[in-house]
Amino acid sequence: MLSAIFGFSLNPTFTRYLQIQLLPSSFDAQGSANAAQRLTCFVIDDRVTVDAGSLGIALSEAQRRTIRDVVVTHPHMDHIASLPIFVDDLFGELRQPVRIHATSEVIELLKADVFNDTVYPKFDELRNEHGPVMEYVPFQMGQEFQVAHLKLTAIAVNHIVPTVGLLVSDGKATVAFSSDTAETEELWHVVNHARHLNALFIEASFPDAMEALAKASKHLTPSMLRTELNKLNHNGMDILAVHLKPAYREKVIQELNELGIEKLRVMEPGRIYEW
Ligand SMILES: [Zn+2]
Ligand SMILES: [Zn+2]
Repeated sequence: MLSAIFGFSLNPTFTRYLQIQLLPSSFDAQGSANAAQRLTCFVIDDRVTVDAGSLGIALSEAQRRTIRDVVVTHPHMDHIASLPIFVDDLFGELRQPVRIHATSEVIELLKADVFNDTVYPKFDELRNEHGPVMEYVPFQMGQEFQVAHLKLTAIAVNHIVPTVGLLVSDGKATVAFSSDTAETEELWHVVNHARHLNALFIEASFPDAMEALAKASKHLTPSMLRTELNKLNHNGMDILAVHLKPAYREKVIQELNELGIEKLRVMEPGRIYEW
C-alpha cells in the first residue's frame, strides 16, 4: 500500500517501510521547490540514492549526514550533475567515503569525464584526516549486490549510453527503476522473476507527438510506456512516472492520465512514498 509522509522522515534505524523520495530539482527565486523534474535523484530510506542529479543541492541536513552510498545508473548530466558538489561539500566531515556504485564501464566514464582533475578533483585519490573521501564500487550486471541494507540487481536497459535499470529490495518490499530507456526486454524479464513488486518507477520523457525524438534519444512516451507495462507479469503495484521533460510536462501528464491505467501516477518531487 502506498502512503506518504510530508515534511519529515523517520530515522532509518526505525524505518518499518521502504521509503523513497524523488528529490526536488527545480526551485523558484525564493528557494521553494516545484514539481518540474530537471534532475534525477531518488533517496531510499535516507541512506542510499539511485542517481545523483540533485544530490548536492536538495537534501535535508539529516539526509546529508546519513547518505553515503550512491548508485549511478548512467553518466548523463541530469543523473550526476551535483554528485561532485555533494562530495566536495562533505569533504572535511566524512568519516567514511562516499561510495559510488556503478558498472565498471560507467565508473571509467566518471573518471574520464567528471572526476578528472579538470572538471572536478579526482576525489577517489584524496583523503581527509579520517581517510578516503570517495570510493568507486563496481557491480556486475545481472548479479545481486548489497548496498547498505538493500539488495539490488542491475540490468542493462536501452539508452544511448551504458545504462542500468534496477531491482531493489529491503527484504520486505521490492521496487524497480527503469532509469532512462526506450523499449527494453531484459529488465522486465528479471522484474517478472521477482516474487512480488510493490512499485515501479518508469520514465515518460516526451509526449506521444515526439515519439521520433523519444526513439532517437532512447526514451519513452506515454504510449511506449503502456507497451512496456504489457511486458510485466506483476499486477497491482504502484506505477510512478518520472523524468517528464519540464517543457512538455503538462502534455505528458494529460497523455498518461488518458492511458487510464490504475495506480499510474506522476511521482511528486519531495514527497516521501513508502511500501
Ligand atoms: Zn539519460
Ligand atoms: Zn535522464
